[in-house]
Amino acid sequence: MQEIDWKNLPFGYADTDYNVRCYYRNGSWGKIEVSSSNNINIHMAATCLHYGQEGFEGLKAYTGKDGKVRIFRCEENALRMQKTAERVLMAAPPVELFREMVHKVVQLNARFIPPYGHGATLYIRPLLIGTSPEVGVKPSEEYLLIMFVVPVGPYFKEGFKPVDMMICRDFDRAAPQGTGTVKVGGNYAASLQSLAIAKKAGFSSTIYLDAKEKKYIDECGPANFFGIKNKTYITPQSESILPSITNKSLQQLAEHLGYKVEKRPVPFEELAEFEEVAECGTAAVITPIRKIVDPIANKTFTYGDPETPGPVCTELYNVYTAIQFGETEDIFGWTEVVDV
Ligand SMILES: *Cc1c(COP(=O)(O)O)cnc(C)c1O
Repeated sequence: MQEIDWKNLPFGYADTDYNVRCYYRNGSWGKIEVSSSNNINIHMAATCLHYGQEGFEGLKAYTGKDGKVRIFRCEENALRMQKTAERVLMAAPPVELFREMVHKVVQLNARFIPPYGHGATLYIRPLLIGTSPEVGVKPSEEYLLIMFVVPVGPYFKEGFKPVDMMICRDFDRAAPQGTGTVKVGGNYAASLQSLAIAKKAGFSSTIYLDAKEKKYIDECGPANFFGIKNKTYITPQSESILPSITNKSLQQLAEHLGYKVEKRPVPFEELAEFEEVAECGTAAVITPIRKIVDPIANKTFTYGDPETPGPVCTELYNVYTAIQFGETEDIFGWTEVVDV
């Protein structure tokens, strides 16, 4: 068995021992099945392949300071997957089924859960796909919910260090009343081109403006956006962004720590007023932004010291990750222990 280098894990795919699967057939969910194969066998005309009838989730398991393994707000992910399923007419997995599968896939792959102390975690990827063959455009009759895990290091190689972002005006990720508020792969397909352009120009990722007017900040590719000014946590309200569980949690936490919280449209010009800005998500946790460049409007916004995250981001990051790693009391009841 190969030793895992916990300190230098990438954020990428790697094989583990098992995945768990549940099939929806004839109008009901079956029993949870355990598989040691990395492949799935589906019909070439499956609706997920042709018409994008699919959705996914992402959450993490953390080894705490006390050695216990915890997952974070699993029910929120289950509820969001239900919303995704409803939006693209898929069978919605019950919350209890979702939770049971998360626990099971973590337990079965216990040897891949990174130990406490390196900031590494076990990333859990639930995936829901339509599997029935169709050629006409209509929803599948059968579905597969599959969950696999992968041990991961920080999403950005830089870790908790500021990154540079590019504003994308040439391509939209999602439209108002489109599918931006749910976690479907199609939104990611729509973002690949702008992400490639941003990466090529040396940026870590993109920031999207609202698709209708291009006046307001929407979100960062796979993460939400927030800015800090005058002791206030400000995050966009929009019809085309994915409701991040990290963002929702940080709003609660910021309030608890004595900050004001505003969720409202954030005009592009306000970028000049923020003291700190950051992106947030399960993968990115909190990643402070050092610089935002808008090549088309020919504007550059810079924040704080290039090497060090700002004080508010640092405080939020420290308390947030301390809860996840069981270093401080989970006063919000966000975590649950997995028996491994
Ligand atoms: C998953 C996702 C996020 C982050 O959501 P979390 O629940 O915090 O992980 C943000 N934006 C998009 C587009 C996403 O798909």
